[in-house]
Amino acid sequence: MSAIILDGTAYAEEIRAQVAAHVAELQSDGRVIRLVAIVVGDDPAGRLYAASQRRQSEKVGIQYELIDLPESTTQERLLETIDRLNVDHGVTGILLHLPLPPHIESSLAQYRIDPYKDVEGVNPANIGLLFYGEPIIAPCTALAVNELVRRSGLVVEGANAVVVGQSRIVGKPITMFLLSQNATVTACHKLTRDLVSHTRAADLLIVAVGKPGVIGAEHVRPGMVVIDVGINSVTGTGPDGKPSRRTVGDVDFEAVAPVVRAISPVPGGVGPLTVAMLLRNTVEAARKQQLTRSEPAAS
Ligand code: NAP
Repeated sequence: MSAIILDGTAYAEEIRAQVAAHVAELQSDGRVIRLVAIVVGDDPAGRLYAASQRRQSEKVGIQYELIDLPESTTQERLLETIDRLNVDHGVTGILLHLPLPPHIESSLAQYRIDPYKDVEGVNPANIGLLFYGEPIIAPCTALAVNELVRRSGLVVEGANAVVVGQSRIVGKPITMFLLSQNATVTACHKLTRDLVSHTRAADLLIVAVGKPGVIGAEHVRPGMVVIDVGINSVTGTGPDGKPSRRTVGDVDFEAVAPVVRAISPVPGGVGPLTVAMLLRNTVEAARKQQLTRSEPAAS
């Protein structure tokens, strides 16, 4: 039996349509939804990613602005820029592209973003609130994974979930998300002994490592749902026999797909859904900001 392929591109399209409807609703109340991205330095990937975010934002009616700062920008100047955006009521969401130049402390800059404008859900306030299962804005990748799991039909409550990778931005938030839904969660990492024994015991396997092929046929068993978060650029051979670059996940898709019940592909799985979640978070941010601003002041 062949696996269900969890088509993130198609699901992202549905989410964008829902977001566009919500944005139109907010606009009819006179609200402008505006996302501001900050890129610092010469990394061309940040600008490429920003161009893609702009296209997707504008398609759903979200205004997108890019603040492009030079490599020489000081930490103080970046923090001032964030502070200015934090207090500007015309700004709904703030996005900080990483990596930042080495003289700037990334976590300090991320910490500075107002948790209500933190549309990527990376501020420690939002990550911390995940422990209580109620972040103001949840991390986009964890939301994307959650959406794929939901669409796989797997009942998370009581399921054995194994998360491979425990980074602050990806692995740990996914672990907390699953725990808050009453899965029994095992977090694996570089020093985990006998990874196979853990992964094979899973009903749900989520892989966020950044190493192509780290999960092969030996790590899985029939009936499992596998979500591949990894994005890796590898060199292969093109149809003309010449070297060419392509994007693959962390899971050996060809080996694993014939065994498991459902699997997300790379590309076309978690990636497109993560961007859709960023747009959804922006609308969520607008709603929550409205609520906090309309709350009566404490006497
Ligand atoms: P990261 O910060 O490098 O973390 C990688 C994690 O994998 C670490 O916890 C590390 O363990 C663990 N690890 C490394 N080798 C391992 C092994 N052989 N066995 C088990 N665990 C191992 O990377 P990240 O930022 O979390 O990103 C992970 C992947 O997700 C990357 O490919 C990235 O491009 C991708 N990503 C995708 C999206 C998306 O939207 N689809 C978003 C963000 C990131 P230690 O903690 O012990 O070092």
